[in-house]
Amino acid sequence: MPSRTSLATALFCLICFCAALGTTPALAQPPADNQMPSVIQVPAEAQASSHFDATAATNAYLAQIPPSKTARSDAYFEGGYWLILWDFLYGAVVALLLLNLRWSARMRDLAERVTRFKPVHTFVYWLQYLVLTSVLIFPLTVYEDYFREHKYGLATQTFGPWMGDQMKLLAVNLVLGGVLAMLLFGVVRRLPKTWWIWGAVVTILFLIFTSLIEPVYLVPIFNKVTRLDDPKIIDPILSMARANGIPAKDVYEIDASRQTTRMSANVSGFANTMRITLNDNLLRRGSPEEIQAVMGHEMGHYVMNHIYKIITFGLIVTVLAFAYLRWALDWTLQRWGEKWQIRGVGDTAVLPLVVLLALVFIFAITPVMKTFGRTLEYEADMYGLNTSRQPDGEAQADIHLGEYRKMSPGPIEEWIFFDHPSGRNRIYAAMRWKAENLKLFTAQQ
Ligand SMILES: [Zn+2]
Repeated sequence: MPSRTSLATALFCLICFCAALGTTPALAQPPADNQMPSVIQVPAEAQASSHFDATAATNAYLAQIPPSKTARSDAYFEGGYWLILWDFLYGAVVALLLLNLRWSARMRDLAERVTRFKPVHTFVYWLQYLVLTSVLIFPLTVYEDYFREHKYGLATQTFGPWMGDQMKLLAVNLVLGGVLAMLLFGVVRRLPKTWWIWGAVVTILFLIFTSLIEPVYLVPIFNKVTRLDDPKIIDPILSMARANGIPAKDVYEIDASRQTTRMSANVSGFANTMRITLNDNLLRRGSPEEIQAVMGHEMGHYVMNHIYKIITFGLIVTVLAFAYLRWALDWTLQRWGEKWQIRGVGDTAVLPLVVLLALVFIFAITPVMKTFGRTLEYEADMYGLNTSRQPDGEAQADIHLGEYRKMSPGPIEEWIFFDHPSGRNRIYAAMRWKAENLKLFTAQQ
């Protein structure tokens, strides 16, 4: 599901985890401008031998990437660092406009004229708020999601279908965000002293519910998901699943090429709706070794219960966020509440202020969130190598992922900005694994 900011989606990102991993074509077609080379041959330094060295093997893999492609994907990824800042500042300016021009108070008054019945009043306010803010942030949205993606050759949609997806996303946010807003304002009005505790509980339950329905009801709004049935691909995957005690009967394919050239795979949902999905870019361009390496990684997320770890982490972050919100709302409303014509925390006109404060919180904890994600991804990489035993497939996947990620960042840069280990570190981990398991590969020499 494409992601765009609104109150609801900003909160959803707490729980999103998506494991992107890439791939290689066995087809001898020259890669497009933006595409990384496919390493069909394992470079000499990465071949199993008595003098195998993990660092030399890593460097040999990285040397397969032409400097022009490194420059291009570095520029794309580093631009993303700035977008974190611009998204935050732009969102803050929009929220301050709504408050200072008293548009938020006017939307509240209008909603009150429609109905005094509180839940419906909240929904009517949300409808106005969502439409107005979507229009105001549209210039940034269209640059970030459309023009910039096309500039780097990552987008496949023309403007019409892209806009169609944006409208669908708006409808999803209208419904889901509307329900969350009605629930939270209901909690605040009924429990004026302890709302921040119960608000956190309601939010996390709502996020769990959303991730439960996502693969089955939300993803199909944007993409077609089908069951994979090619035995050449599915047999080794299911064999790997059985060997690891995973009760999977099906693996799914998503037509991500409708929107993007990116290769990726993910585990989504949980309990009965949990499933592993590979995208069609990966299936089309990936070698069997790469696909197995990717599947091993995704199975790692599943076997190591990452979804439950994410929910636990999300619960802690949400409680902290609500505690901070309670304090920050009291502080700001005391100073500017009258000027903004906000009657209190239970008044729907407070929403832009809540979003503003949430943006500050999310911006401040970005490195923590990235590091939490990166730690789980590293675990999944280790599990994937042990399971698939495809270190070269993993290295090839990491090079393909480099089409939209910087391969060799500095350590602080990686700590702040990377939600997966960097390509260089992932290839090194794969080669380190290979160095310790050379006996598995010497028979092939
Ligand atoms: Zn992952």
